[in-house]
Amino acid sequence: MRGLLFVVSAPSGTGKTTLVERLVEIVPNLTMSRSYTSRAAREGEADGVDYNFINRQRFEEMIHCGEFLEWADVFGNLYGTCLSDTERHLEAGRDLVLVIDVQGARQVRRQGRERIAIFVLPPSPDILERRLRGRSKDSEEAIRRRLAVARQEITAFEEYDYVVVNDEFDACVERLGAIVLAERARLAVARRPAEEIVERFRAAPATDVTR
Ligand code: 5GP
Repeated sequence: MRGLLFVVSAPSGTGKTTLVERLVEIVPNLTMSRSYTSRAAREGEADGVDYNFINRQRFEEMIHCGEFLEWADVFGNLYGTCLSDTERHLEAGRDLVLVIDVQGARQVRRQGRERIAIFVLPPSPDILERRLRGRSKDSEEAIRRRLAVARQEITAFEEYDYVVVNDEFDACVERLGAIVLAERARLAVARRPAEEIVERFRAAPATDVTR
């Protein structure tokens, strides 16, 4: 059976990548998509692990050849999800999570693709600012820019199917896991295995309940 496509968005600093990395560790048959980006690798990041790092020219060639399911310019760098990678996972029956920004999520929605979209909200502006300052060596200007973009991005939460607040890491991962499991149990998804079980009941000889 074809895998389910999940889209997770959140403002920068909400911790969505760490959340989804943990999620795919604890939920079987769930994979996190690896994006392509034109930005330089940060210290500690590895090509083919955190992202596929490519230069801007190569990225633009990929856009030109229609190789992206979606792509966006985020903070001056290009980020995109490879269409063939996505199809390979889904065709193999693996559920896939794209961790992408609001612009990318909109592109996926406009294509009319089946997807389950989840928005992760930071609990408050103060906490988001603290997280942005705590985690990065970004300049004051870059932090201000991320906060301004976050203020704008969170207004997009209504475009998503689910909203979770990242107030506490483990609780948030649990909520994300609950969404994945609930989506897998939907009749439209679970019909075939359910029919197989029901068929086995039909085929089994009926027991005499009076005995
Ligand atoms: P960072 O540079 O901090 O790793 O990511 C910056 C932003 O780019 C994050 O909001 C992240 O979700 C977004 N992003 C990462 N990969 C993709 C992608 O493939 N497509 C889109 N549209 N956004 C992405």
